[in-house]
Amino acid sequence: PSDLRILREPQPRRHTVGVAVGGVMVGGTAPVVVQSMTNTDTADIDATVAQVAALHRAGSEIVRLTVDRDDSAAAVPRIRERLERLGLDVPLVGDFHYIGHKLLADHPACAEALAKYRINPGNVGFREKRDRQFTEIVEMAIRHDKPVRIGVNWGSLDQELLTRLMDDNQDRGSPMSAREVTREAIVQSALISAELAESIGLPRSKIILSAKVSQVQDLIAVYIELAGRTDHALHLGLTEAGMGSKGIVASSAAMGILLQHGIGDTIRISLTPEPGGDRTREVQVAQELLQTMGFRQFVPVVAACPGCGRTTSTVFQELARQIEDDLRRNMPVWRNKYPGVENLQVAVMGCIVNGPGESKHANIGISLPGTGESPAAPVFIDGKKAATLRGPTIAKDFQDMVSDYIEQ
Ligand code: SF4
Repeated sequence: PSDLRILREPQPRRHTVGVAVGGVMVGGTAPVVVQSMTNTDTADIDATVAQVAALHRAGSEIVRLTVDRDDSAAAVPRIRERLERLGLDVPLVGDFHYIGHKLLADHPACAEALAKYRINPGNVGFREKRDRQFTEIVEMAIRHDKPVRIGVNWGSLDQELLTRLMDDNQDRGSPMSAREVTREAIVQSALISAELAESIGLPRSKIILSAKVSQVQDLIAVYIELAGRTDHALHLGLTEAGMGSKGIVASSAAMGILLQHGIGDTIRISLTPEPGGDRTREVQVAQELLQTMGFRQFVPVVAACPGCGRTTSTVFQELARQIEDDLRRNMPVWRNKYPGVENLQVAVMGCIVNGPGESKHANIGISLPGTGESPAAPVFIDGKKAATLRGPTIAKDFQDMVSDYIEQ
């Protein structure tokens, strides 16, 4: 029964040491932060500025960029300037692999423009070289007063550490399965690297940890272990989550369980974009995960019935989609103009069975005519019938009523 309590209500957020990433707090008492990553060539300044702006406007509170070569490192301060000229104060994180120590040393303007550096301890080199290069990046972070994310990844795990743990396990008669040893290697890689960073002089308030894997059960196991062994702020993410609904379901299942346990200070949903797909989708999914679980409120809720044999057309589904898209598109402006607008509830229902009841519970709701009903759509505002819409402009008229309601 005590375990079932977790299912009944979320556990209190686990205590972590808060880390300031630019102006955004991660961990401590801050709400769970939504972040994302660009997939443009960072050296292509126009494309990267456009994508960072789109991600930030969609609700990404932190945006990560690949910094993989001199051209991209040189572009970072110019991207920062361009974003500032657009009035966008979004913290940028540099994603470094292999030569991060060199790029940061050779491009001090890049080191300064970034709000955080991401280091993957599995690919900064081997043995002494690894420790030296890792140390150089941490020293750079100390010099520029920046936090780092130590981001361990299943696909680039420190092979020396894994081999050592596998051998130890074998010597002890193999009490752990190979999968359990791998999970332990991921956890240890993060903890050992954090310890090294702290011994170099980077305070805990400048370190975020992540340990990304691609399987739901592994992610849950690894993060529960990590959370039990450290109070570092944790970045959650399922790596290579996949395309379309598979990626969304897998990420939501894994992170939903961890968030319910109070684990996780910032999340990124890594979706493989469909060709030509919208990169902001991952931000929307992250927001929807936090919102549907009741942890944060980003956009007004649009309640729509699933439809059934009583609905004569898809008008109500199209209307629900239009209303949701409108609200989402207008949120960057409305959020500042109308504080609390994100708490609004809108209902779009298909017929009179549940339509009026659901509409009365919303701030504003419409019950469209189902099969055999008179072609009239009652609209309810704050629980009272406010109008009856008719004719071919019902959808447009209702959209106008929602906008008027918000403005009033
Ligand atoms: Fe069907 Fe009406 Fe219920 Fe919608 S509200 S699911 S149309 S019965």
